[in-house]
Amino acid sequence: MKERAPGESRVALTPETAKKFAALGATVAIEQGAGLGASITDDAYREAGAEVGTSADVISGADIVLGVQAPDPTQLTGAKPGVWVAATFDPFRNGELVAAYAAAGLEALSMEFMPRITRAQSMDVLSSQSNLAGYKAVLTAANTYGRAFPMMMTAAGTVQAAKVFVMGVGVAGLQAIATAKRLGAQVSATDVRSATKEQIQSLGAKPIFVENVAGIEGEGSGGYATEMSEEYQKAQAELVSAHIAKQDIVITTALIPGRPAPRLISDGQIASMKPGSVIFDLAVAQGGNVEGSVPDQTVEKHGVKIVGYANTANHLAADASALFARNLYNFLSAFWDKETGRPVLDEEIGDAVRLTKDNKVVNSRLAD
Ligand code: NAD
Repeated sequence: MKERAPGESRVALTPETAKKFAALGATVAIEQGAGLGASITDDAYREAGAEVGTSADVISGADIVLGVQAPDPTQLTGAKPGVWVAATFDPFRNGELVAAYAAAGLEALSMEFMPRITRAQSMDVLSSQSNLAGYKAVLTAANTYGRAFPMMMTAAGTVQAAKVFVMGVGVAGLQAIATAKRLGAQVSATDVRSATKEQIQSLGAKPIFVENVAGIEGEGSGGYATEMSEEYQKAQAELVSAHIAKQDIVITTALIPGRPAPRLISDGQIASMKPGSVIFDLAVAQGGNVEGSVPDQTVEKHGVKIVGYANTANHLAADASALFARNLYNFLSAFWDKETGRPVLDEEIGDAVRLTKDNKVVNSRLAD
């Protein structure tokens, strides 16, 4: 379907995946103009064997609807009862949408709830989109910064390398480190999960870690972060305060599933930075890691520019769509049942991603 969320340019099906679904025996249809934001024409879909039509046309016969951001159930009027909708739902923050899916008898499959297991890596939209977001965050920060990233020795004198600090070293953070290194910056990074120390070093960056404080492990189920002890948070804030004052660029990426993003940078810490420094807050849409950050705005505080996009991967819509669409294809094709001509999900992945079925909310992560 064509995305309806304001500003959303991505698309959940590409000509490449349309062809692959057709090869499985599926009939593939896409709403006209759905790919334009990602520079994909209707003709490109037609050449790949997909039908192109109005939203009513494509919905009416569908067994499975694909989306980047889940459509409102009112946009699925006329769909078959129990139709599957595979998309992102942001389920912890969108309780009303999930309830509306249940009420409408739609089966919501939330791609954010893909379990973090080896076999599901190729199906994981959070990883594919975060990776691109980490890259774009560094480029945007570099663009906003009034100085260069690499050290340059010129006839007119030396330009110093920028100091870049990455806070939160998950998928986005690792790509941010790699991108900043490629641009020639001096890079350091921190996380609450001590397992990231080695990963930071292997990318040639400097780990900044609180040592010898209880509650440092910070790793919960599935490799996600948990909320840290108070003692840890205090020690981390002190270490960060000292480090941050010396940085030119800070990229923050810290998220905790189901909770608002942890606050990592206070107004006082911003004030300690040099004028002209730049902070990119990748968590701005989840409440923000940085005090005062506003989605899609450049906020200037104490001479420091604070930037953050509500939807960072959207700024690389063509690649983000290509990867998102492959994630969906990898997911559905892994379970394809030739006899029925549609996927049959197993318990481990099916129960993890399914939010609603038979007019009920059925996901255990949404139980409370
Ligand atoms: P995320 O987006 O949930 O969070 C980003 C990072 O912020 C994480 O590294 C987290 O530890 C860190 N963080 C949270 N609170 C923080 C704080 N107060 N201070 C500093 N950092 C903080 O994480 P993610 O990118 O989705 O990845 C989390 C882990 O899961 C990684 O180890 C990743 O490699 C792993 N992973 C595995 C799979 C798989 O096996 N299929 C898929 C994706 C990710």
